[in-house]
Amino acid sequence: MSTLSNDQISELKSRFRGHLITPDDSHYDYARKIWNGMFDKRPSLIAQCVTTADVVSAVNFAREHGLLVAVRGGGHNSAGKAVCDDGIVIDLSLMRRVNVDPRKKTARVDGGALLGDVDSETQLHGLAVSAGVVSHTGVGGLSLGGGFGWLSRSHGLSVDNLISADVVTADGTLLHVSQDENEDLFWGIRGGGGNFGVVTSLEFKCAEIGTEVFSGVIVKAYENAHDYISFHQAYVQTLPDEMTVWLVVRKAPPLPFLPKEVHGQLAILIPFAWLGDQSEGEKLIEPIRDHTPSHGEHVGMNPWVGWQTLFDGFAEHGARNYWKSHHLKDLSTECVDQLLSFAQTLPSDECEIFIPHMEGAPSRVAEDATAFAHRFTPFVLNIHTRWRDQNDDEKCLAWAREFHQATEPFSQGVYVNFISDEGEERVKDAYTQSTWDRLVRLKDKYDPQNMFSLNQNIKPSS
Ligand code: FAD
Repeated sequence: MSTLSNDQISELKSRFRGHLITPDDSHYDYARKIWNGMFDKRPSLIAQCVTTADVVSAVNFAREHGLLVAVRGGGHNSAGKAVCDDGIVIDLSLMRRVNVDPRKKTARVDGGALLGDVDSETQLHGLAVSAGVVSHTGVGGLSLGGGFGWLSRSHGLSVDNLISADVVTADGTLLHVSQDENEDLFWGIRGGGGNFGVVTSLEFKCAEIGTEVFSGVIVKAYENAHDYISFHQAYVQTLPDEMTVWLVVRKAPPLPFLPKEVHGQLAILIPFAWLGDQSEGEKLIEPIRDHTPSHGEHVGMNPWVGWQTLFDGFAEHGARNYWKSHHLKDLSTECVDQLLSFAQTLPSDECEIFIPHMEGAPSRVAEDATAFAHRFTPFVLNIHTRWRDQNDDEKCLAWAREFHQATEPFSQGVYVNFISDEGEERVKDAYTQSTWDRLVRLKDKYDPQNMFSLNQNIKPSS
């Protein structure tokens, strides 16, 4: 534990409006908890900021005292980078305001807001920001890495809808970044994660989606998994961008629309969302129903805010999680063989093989337009390894690693937000070589001492 004296903390307190939490504080254990229960880190100080000035003060304090710095947005990164041992956590979890401009169809979002905060405010105007699919995920970390969800095939990634942001850099300067101002940094934060500073506010273009979407989940029988997945690959590639259909292999949860005997058995879950007329959506999903038998479905018009919480229950805080991921070039027979062989040995009932379909608007943006680089691969494979008992760590980690290795021949690149703690070479895999070189030059310019190192780190060159 680093030795921050009471005098030093009092000095910060004199210019800090939020809460400064130390290990003696009764809130300390709550404040240091993050989503992934694998991490139990004990920072020396948690600076819960409530204003941009607090963030500047915390950054300056950390620099002046040579502290290790973690930045916490929604605390969801599976690699556990939002908290540290010793050092300071610059915690944005109290900075969650969302201001919507319905005329301009934009939303300005604080750096610690959660996706649910953004959905509830934008939906007052029938608008939405293209982001992720679990309402308690942080907008900060998600957007700085890329950000995809039900709207991204039609409206682009979160980074493609970012208009501007405010960034506090390592020297304590507050910079406004956009296409016209500090353009280099604006490019870098759109995929380069939290490497360049603390983002206190993000301004997004909103999509006009109304307040309900035709959406749902169709649960297919696992016995026909090979057949279904081969069909699925070709089928999703025929769909308009307004229809997004994903695929999840897992043990069926006890959903009320599934027969009891299916609960806990392997199944293929097909969640989808359609941004259009219900009757057209019904026609578009008909092939899913027709191809191989289903166990049940829950399909209809859903309020967007409700739909965006549908998967929250599968991803509650506190369980142990280990993610391994890569983009998939296709779902070839050989690839599906591997997927299904590892499905047979899921090490816990909560593990998921998650395969979103990515093509659409993101693939029409030039590869070097933002730091988010791999835009052309059709699928992502995310191996969501999730369990409760620490004694199962070894078994679960080994399964994920072996599965990942077995599917490597079918992969190309990785989404930076789905990487675990896997070292610099793996971080490089999230970028093309030219993007990486450009990111290192930016790091040299904006964070030459690598103050912001607790992330998927891009080290400065010297
Ligand atoms: P944190 O752990 O707080 O932060 C992650 C990283 O970003 C850290 O390095 C942190 O320092 C940095 N950071 C966060 N906020 C800021 C900020 N304001 N300024 C500077 N740096 C910051 N991703 C998708 O694209 N689509 C999804 O649908 C999706 N679903 C998910 C569902 C769950 C349950 C989980 C756990 C993750 C999901 N993700 C998804 C991945 C998600 O994008 C990453 O986990 C992301 O890092 C979460 O951001 P956060 O702010 O919650 O996390």
